[in-house]
Amino acid sequence: MIELHELTKRYGDTVAVDRLSFQVPQGVVTGFLGPNGAGKSTTMRMILDLDRPTSGQVTIDGRRYGQLSEPLKYIGALLEAKAVHPGRTAYDHLLWLAQSNRIPTSRVAEVLDLVGLTAVAKRRSRGFSLGMGQRLGIASALLGDPEIVMFDEPVNGLDPEGILWIRNLMKGLAAEGRTVFVSSHLMSEMALTADHLVVIGRGRLLANLSMAEFIKQNSRSAVRVRTPHVEQLLAVLHGAGLNAVPGPAGSYEVEDGDLTHIGELAASHGVTLHELSPQQASLEEAFMQMTADSVQYQAGGAAPGRTAPGQAHGQTPGPAPAQPAAWGAGWKEKS
Ligand code: ADP
Ligand code: MG
Repeated sequence: MIELHELTKRYGDTVAVDRLSFQVPQGVVTGFLGPNGAGKSTTMRMILDLDRPTSGQVTIDGRRYGQLSEPLKYIGALLEAKAVHPGRTAYDHLLWLAQSNRIPTSRVAEVLDLVGLTAVAKRRSRGFSLGMGQRLGIASALLGDPEIVMFDEPVNGLDPEGILWIRNLMKGLAAEGRTVFVSSHLMSEMALTADHLVVIGRGRLLANLSMAEFIKQNSRSAVRVRTPHVEQLLAVLHGAGLNAVPGPAGSYEVEDGDLTHIGELAASHGVTLHELSPQQASLEEAFMQMTADSVQYQAGGAAPGRTAPGQAHGQTPGPAPAQPAAWGAGWKEKS
């Protein structure tokens, strides 16, 4: 289990991670959600000991990453920056990792097969597409058959097929009882993958709850109506004990209204309707509301590109034995 206790990281005046405390549960996919710059990558780097906390602690099964003797057997990670030397073949990259972590060589072919790279295993990774690079990164993460896997924005820049593949892989790993911790800046992505949610903004914990609970708390439904006879309709709704608030383009929205009931009410009073439609607040909207403060703070008022891919920061080499993330600082695949 990953456990964070008052974890804090400052870079000069920037508080990237601010007294973050939570545990990542076993056997489910936990989504680590926050707008760009919220501190997700920094938190993940601290979990892997690639960045030193300013204060607080993070442990894996009760120990710091650096204290694990064969870390790849506990936790496998795919971080944002590309983690493979471009001149190496996929096979050689995995072989080197396996050997430096005392993992049997036979496991290399197994993980190549698992991620569907067997056919290109002897090609230099320089020619790999973004999706192939991600698959190789995932193969590295799975090499030690770890109980915990951690992915930082794994679907960024992938095509729909690649995204679907990663989603199913994560669900499968959780179904095997593993701990899966995955970050994203997109609620829509988490809604399709995560069972549990940890939301952060400005480095602070904003929510820590099950996906089901998040949906229950945040799904608001309303009925939108539009009519040329506004006053008449409002009077009819009011008479039926329904409250309507102005919506877009001259429409009105009735909170928790029933579509059929409102349609029949209008008809029985001879009020013409030009629109009668159900409205569902999206989880994306709920997430935006939850993190609105942190986004405004970052950009001085305007919301920055939520859909822009998270920026990758250069990584410092980790301690031996090698973790895939220690490679390739500065090398980025063009896509
Ligand atoms: P996220 O992954 O959620 O987008 P990050 O962890 O990358 O967020 O960044 C959190 C904050 O810390 C941002 O303000 C970012 O600019 C800052 N930051 C991250 N890494 C560094 C670094 N190596 N040096 C200085 N500032 C950094
Ligand atoms: Mg990031």
